[in-house]
Order: sequence, then structure tokens, then C-alpha cells
Amino acid sequence: MSLFEDARKYIAGGVNSPVRAFAGVGGEPLFVKSAKGAYLYTEDGRQLIDYVGSWGPMILGHADAAVIKAVKKAAESGLSFGAPTVIETMLARKICQLMPSIEKIRMVSSGTEATMSAIRLARGFTGRDKIIKFEGCYHGHSDSLLIKAGSGALTLGVPSSPGVPAGLAEHTITLDYNDADAVKAVFAELGDSIACIIVEPIAGNMNMVPPVEGFLETLRNECTASGSVLIFDEVMTGFRVALGGAQAAFDIKPDLTTLGKIAGGGMPAAAFGGRADIMKHLAPEGPVYQAGTLSGNPLAMAAGLATLQAIERPGFYESLSARTRQLIDGLQGAAGAAGVPLSTEAMGGMFGLVFTADGPMRRFSQIAKADLDRFRKFFHGMLDQGIYLAPSAFEAGFVSSAHGDTEIGRTIDAATRVFETI
Ligand SMILES: *Cc1c(COP(=O)(O)O)cnc(C)c1O
Repeated sequence: MSLFEDARKYIAGGVNSPVRAFAGVGGEPLFVKSAKGAYLYTEDGRQLIDYVGSWGPMILGHADAAVIKAVKKAAESGLSFGAPTVIETMLARKICQLMPSIEKIRMVSSGTEATMSAIRLARGFTGRDKIIKFEGCYHGHSDSLLIKAGSGALTLGVPSSPGVPAGLAEHTITLDYNDADAVKAVFAELGDSIACIIVEPIAGNMNMVPPVEGFLETLRNECTASGSVLIFDEVMTGFRVALGGAQAAFDIKPDLTTLGKIAGGGMPAAAFGGRADIMKHLAPEGPVYQAGTLSGNPLAMAAGLATLQAIERPGFYESLSARTRQLIDGLQGAAGAAGVPLSTEAMGGMFGLVFTADGPMRRFSQIAKADLDRFRKFFHGMLDQGIYLAPSAFEAGFVSSAHGDTEIGRTIDAATRVFETI
């Protein structure tokens, strides 16, 4: 019996998060035994160059010595107290310094919790119910966010999962990413009933789609004009595309920001924060309730702090960006030589690869038309060559500071061989 078959006997679907099951690419998921630097080591004895990085957190590579040391030291002092610790203040101060739009912060344990809490806070602060989100963005799996655009009616959402009440769906408006005119139209009609916009300032959950010129500015302007809260979901992009996140890269100041992934350095930590006048509405200072038994967990804070201290080093993002660019240029060149149409994106340590001649990718509708069959062949071809990409065509990829010339070179060589076969 395979490890996956054994897991399926006890774990729903054999996995603790659906995309791990390889449903998008076929075959059985690999079981990871350990990881170090740019490499994963599987239970069946394979060594793989990893471009998933635990879906984003591992910007220093796996098992970074400083992070592991910090976590070990924290563990020796006790795992959880449910009372304040100094390291929570240290990580909070560090994040506020790196992202100046965050005046006050609250730690939570997952990105889902961060976005869910930020939306509740925006609703509580404004006294309004409606929220705007964009098709192709992912903000975790809380009920208000598992809503898609309804057919025809611009303003009436429908649940995208059974179990989400239709009554909630009517408060979520789903628009097309990068469609500033649609945002203006909704605000013209409903502006004073919109609590917030939540957006990935660079979309990383429909492969990688950057904002078009003026899109984020429009969101900022409309929210300011109508008293709505602008939430940048930087769970993925925070500390990934630039030290100050996408908000620094595009020079737009959101009212609230959600963080996760890198902020927890591979441990379950996430956060939301922003304007002090909004954050003061949170309990215990204010009436909007939010809490967590393990929030600010000392091991998670230690991993996050050690990670942020490492990425602050001068030149970190310059060399990470150059590495990512080297990979993407190499892949683009190899695809071109093989006559395979490929659209690519890269920023900081984040990249996108879409098999299409219809680039660059700016709309969800373009991504939805990409060649999935070719992606599946590419994914398995690369895996056979020892390269581990995200097992879905709709995910961004990640380069870490542990990826060196050797790893990038081996990846481009592998792709050169694989492109000939797909
Ligand atoms: C991963 C992700 C989330 C959800 O975070 P979890 O820790 O998986 O709950 C939310 N928003 C964005 C943009 C993400 O990439």
C-alpha cells in the first residue's frame, strides 16, 4: 500500500489541505521526509529542487540555521503560555517598522484567520456589511470569502462551496481583477454600503497576475472617497516581492494589511494590522471581537522574527530578484527555442508560468484559458527530472535565497529537455 493510500484511511482525502492531493496534475502526492536549503527529500528517497517553499514561507530556504536555532531556543523555554511574551512585541515592532502602513497589529495563526478578522473589523468599524473581492484572488476559506460572482447580476454573489449560507453571499461582491471601471461603477451605485475591498495587490492564487497601471490607485481612491476600508491581503506578497511588500513596490497605502506565510517563517503565525484608529475597534479596546488561544505563539514568533531579521540584510532582495529573473529568463529562452508558448512574470522571489500565447496575463479570464494539459505534462516531466513545482497551474512559484547558480542552472537544463517533449 502506498503512503497516500494509508493516509486516506484516516485523513479526509488523504491530505490536510486540498491542493496537496495532486488533483490538478494527476498521480499521487509525494511524502516529504525532510528539507534543507533549496531541496526536498521524499520518503521514497528522491532529492528535489523545491519551488513551492511550503507555498511561500520558506524565503530563506528550508531549515535555515538561524531560524531553527531561534525555534529550538524558544521551545526549551516552553511551548505556549496564553499570556503576553516579549517576543510578540519584538515581532510586532519589526513588522510595523518594515510596513509603515501598519500602526497597530494583531497576531493570529493562519492567513484565513487574518483575512476573516480584518473583514470583521472593517465591517465593525464602518457599520456596513458589503465587501468587494476579485475573481481569481484567494483570501483563505472563511465563509464570506468563499463566494463567486453570480451569473449576470454584477452585484449578487453565490457561494462557491456547499455549506456557505446564501444569505452571506449577498454581501460579497465579486469583480474582475484589474477592472478599475467595474470598481468605479459599483462604488457609484453602492459606495456608502461597502465596508471594504479586499485584494491581493499582486494576485498569486491564479498563477501570478500583477496589477495594471492605475488599478490599485482606483481602489485607494474609491475607498477613501466613500469611507470604505482598503485591505491588502499580503499573506503571500508580504516580504516576498519586496521588503515592504507589494504596498511598498507600488507605493499605495492600504488601511489594513493581512500577513502570513513569511511572517511566520514556516510556523503557524499570521497577522492583520493597519491604521491605529481602525485597530482600536478590536477587543479589548473596542467592541469588535477577535481572539486566539495560540495567537502570538512563542515558537511561531521566534521563527517569524528570525526570518524577518535575515531578509532585512542589505542586498537580500536585489540578489533574490536577480536569481528569480535568471530562472525566468532561462525558462522563457528554453520554451522559445522549443516553440512552446509561455507567458512569465517575476517580482522579488515570486514568479508565474502560464502556457499560453495570449500573454501577458492580466485577467482571470486569460488564465482560465491556459493550456492545462501542457502544464500537467510539464509538471510531471520536471518532477521526473528532480524539480518540484506547485502541483497546480493556478499557483505562483517561489525562489528562496538558498537557490544558487547550481539549482537554477539544473532547473533550466531540465526544462530545456522537458519542453522538447510537451
Ligand atoms: C495562503 C493565502 C491565504 C490563506 O492563508 P492560510 O494560512 O492558508 O490560511 C490568504 N490569502 C492569500 C493571498 C494567500 O496566499
